[in-house]
Amino acid sequence: MTLPKFATIRISLLLGVLLVVGFTSTHQRVYSRNWNQTLQAVIYPINGDGHLETDRYIRSLQDANFSRINRWGEREAKRHNLDLSVPLNVTLGEQIPTQPPSFPDNANAVDVLVWGLRFRYWAWRNTPDDGSLTRVRLFVVYQTGEENRPLRHSLGMQKGLMGLVYAYSLEEQNDQNNIVIAHELLHTVGAIDKYDESGRPLMPVGLANPSRNPLFPQRSAEIMAGRIPTSAHSSYMAESLRSVIVNATTAAEINWTD
Ligand SMILES: [Zn+2]
Repeated sequence: MTLPKFATIRISLLLGVLLVVGFTSTHQRVYSRNWNQTLQAVIYPINGDGHLETDRYIRSLQDANFSRINRWGEREAKRHNLDLSVPLNVTLGEQIPTQPPSFPDNANAVDVLVWGLRFRYWAWRNTPDDGSLTRVRLFVVYQTGEENRPLRHSLGMQKGLMGLVYAYSLEEQNDQNNIVIAHELLHTVGAIDKYDESGRPLMPVGLANPSRNPLFPQRSAEIMAGRIPTSAHSSYMAESLRSVIVNATTAAEINWTD
């Protein structure tokens, strides 16, 4: 049996992408995490629901909307005695007019692999590689959101230094959007999630300060957990990066500390 022609073309394209990405991602993994220079991250906004309001919101975005992430990076790097004083520089890029392939529901390993390739192919077509080994591309899909319906799950990939973020196109959500963006950005440099299936911070790695005495209530959230525990069983969402920190475990994962 022969494959239909379009299928053959698609498979060859995917294989080609796979070869190129496999080659570059090894280099990216090394250079993005040696912290000799600032990690550049570009936000590419996407209108996820086609609403005019979302369009207006995207057009109102400026670099300044994300500069709090950069200041937060400086603050946290200093706490961990990183030699580099400005580890992160998040800036705004151009709006992208097409939608990224959405992550499959109930995906198995093959689905995830195929989605990953499609996503990277889509990213390459919309934001051609500039050859930089330390540039992170964060595709942020903005939506006004529907009541009682959570947005799709955001994700950050170390391979290819890319993130797909689902965020609200609402002024009052800017601070929380920045938490999600910072979270996915740290995934791209090796940080691992620190919450369980129900969203509760893992103990003790998901705590901002695991050696606090008494342990609860915690004052801040850990960036890879996102919630501030008030007891072993209760926690609430951090409102802004002001009350979010990088704990020792995450600092080691992203190679800030040994
Ligand atoms: Zn995560």
